Amino acid sequence: ELDHATPQTDVLDDGAAGKDAVVVATAQSFGDDPLAIRDTDHYKQEYVKGFVEKWDELIDWKKRYESEGSFFIDLLKERGAKRVLDVATGTGFHSVRLIEAGFETVSVDGSPEMLAKAFENAKAYGGHILRTVHADWRWLNRDVHGEFDAVICLGNSFTHLFSERDRRKALAEFYAVLKHDGLLIIDQRNYDAILDNGFSSKHTYYYCGEAVSARPEYVDEGLARFQYTFPDSSEYYLNMFPLRKNYVRRLLREVGFQRIDTYGDFQATYSDDEPDFFIHVAEKY
Ligand code: SAM
Repeated sequence: ELDHATPQTDVLDDGAAGKDAVVVATAQSFGDDPLAIRDTDHYKQEYVKGFVEKWDELIDWKKRYESEGSFFIDLLKERGAKRVLDVATGTGFHSVRLIEAGFETVSVDGSPEMLAKAFENAKAYGGHILRTVHADWRWLNRDVHGEFDAVICLGNSFTHLFSERDRRKALAEFYAVLKHDGLLIIDQRNYDAILDNGFSSKHTYYYCGEAVSARPEYVDEGLARFQYTFPDSSEYYLNMFPLRKNYVRRLLREVGFQRIDTYGDFQATYSDDEPDFFIHVAEKY
């Protein structure tokens, strides 16, 4: 069964979700040695309620619409995409955007709490009923059958995978749900600049004026630990894998994508150090 519009309880009652403790965590837990947490499965514990809700409250969706522009929508329309799979739904920002632009959209996340939040948000923003599927990327095809014109994995989400095996597995699963001429769009923070240019480049990223700040607290080749600070002084962390741009391009090629274009902050031309984000557009055909 692919498409089920799932209110919160359905998501939480889902067989796969049942395996996890469906307790909505309110505090993050990185244990005694946070720098030792380099684990693909840890993402579910990192997106706790307070963090997710504050982020959505402050990084207003309208402002996000404005700063992102219509880059993804234009790209998908140019390629004639109609059916899109959002594999990193999070709180639903991109899924709702796609639905509003007329795409037939299915929304996947590995975290049932995130899907519940996205479902709620979609109802609140325009009364949309999100078609959600609870699935981990690594086993996506177990739960999602069907052929999509495009898969999107946005908001620096791929960074949550900590082993190459997991990355290859996830990309292979994305490849498999695409039609023969389908498209994968995946974005990432510019970790090369942070890793290579030393401490000076580890600047604080501000969102929504100065309201939310993201600061790389610790970085090595295997871990980028970011600290997020909110106006009420609450702090949250994400442990992420610092993906190098050309490494991701190589993996995309190796799983079979034929053409990969990489944009820097939505521009086709850029010097490598400048963009905060890279966007890879990978074509299967
Ligand atoms: N695209 C949204 C945005 O930009 O607002 C949300 C992105 S959020 C940073 C990343 C999402 O990816 C989280 O909701 C997390 O649960 C999900 N995620 C991380 N690793 C995953 C995995 N292995 N399988 C499925 N979902 C995963």
